[in-house]
Amino acid sequence: MALVRITGLTKYFNDHKAVDNISLATREGEFLVLLGPSGCGKTTLLRMIAGLEKPSSGEVVIGGRVVNDLPPRVRNIAMVFQSYALYPHMTVFKNISFPLRALKMEKEKINEKVEWAAQMFGIEQLLNRKPRELSGGERQRVALARAMVRMPSVFLLDEPLSNLDAKLRASAREELQQFQRQIGITTIYVTHDQVEAMGLGNRIVVMNHGKVRQIGTPWEVYHEPADTFVATFVGSPPMNLTEQGDVLVGFRPESFLPLEVNQGHGELKQFEFEVSLVEDLGGDRLIYGRLDEQFGRQRVVSRFAPNINFPIEAGRTHLFTVPEGKVKLFDRQTGVRIEKNIPAGEPDGRD
Ligand code: ATP
Repeated sequence: MALVRITGLTKYFNDHKAVDNISLATREGEFLVLLGPSGCGKTTLLRMIAGLEKPSSGEVVIGGRVVNDLPPRVRNIAMVFQSYALYPHMTVFKNISFPLRALKMEKEKINEKVEWAAQMFGIEQLLNRKPRELSGGERQRVALARAMVRMPSVFLLDEPLSNLDAKLRASAREELQQFQRQIGITTIYVTHDQVEAMGLGNRIVVMNHGKVRQIGTPWEVYHEPADTFVATFVGSPPMNLTEQGDVLVGFRPESFLPLEVNQGHGELKQFEFEVSLVEDLGGDRLIYGRLDEQFGRQRVVSRFAPNINFPIEAGRTHLFTVPEGKVKLFDRQTGVRIEKNIPAGEPDGRD
């Protein structure tokens, strides 16, 4: 097992800065997720850690050793991409054993290791099949088994589940998490899917435009976002952000509820809420509408959990509230979070 530490990592493609001065470190056995929109530099960052892309500046350290000048094969990492790139003419056994055969390992030892990896991913019965005879989920497991069979010290995964349908994705996610916990191998996982990131990560690195916006546990990035980008990228529907003077007042849809429902949750901020649409999602209900004139008739959304039976109608105005503790303030200019308990209109001057 090894830790990965990167310092001041930057990558230019011609004039374009794809990764901009990123520093971060994994923890022992951690599942770290790189999350951000398409083009934010996640893959480039992962490829620099793998040694497939040369940094323009900065340092990559794996297991205490600077690896900037080392080729991928001696970094003792395993990488799985979105396209699993299995060898189509080889059986599953041959695919999984390929890295070991390349190391000229003894036949018996190879059999032992392939058996172990196949068992780990529940594909023992598929060893004689060719990739075209496998489902998407099975192929994905073969790719993971092939990556793991060498027991790398770091596991790098780039959207490995994105070819699977939603149901299979959920079960693959669960398997992957279980497996990672069992082996305890430090894992860095790239995704643009925030649900996946929240479900898998011990910590999430939220990125945008080549920069890190926040590193935190799923709870932290959801409940204590560092800026408006994180507040709106994580969570669906995103955090409501309403302009009030120099600040943006943010609150999650599930905190924005009728007075009667929120009563007993401390001091409440009140709003007149004109409901325009009620969307029944089977479990949750989403309530769309606008705040009153005092708040510039800004659009906001509320989410009712299944246990909230409060009657609500489109076309009516209801008194809605947010517990003060759930209100997050952001600088209107920079989008950066303003420390808690600072009254609206008095940003703390941080830039
Ligand atoms: P996605 O989720 O779409 O895969 P990403 O966050 O992984 O996106 P990267 O693939 O790292 O993003 O790309 C970051 C930026 O660098 C993009 O603007 C991309 O166009 C650019 N880029 C990536 N690779 C190259 C390359 N080889 N040459 C030139 N530009 C590149």
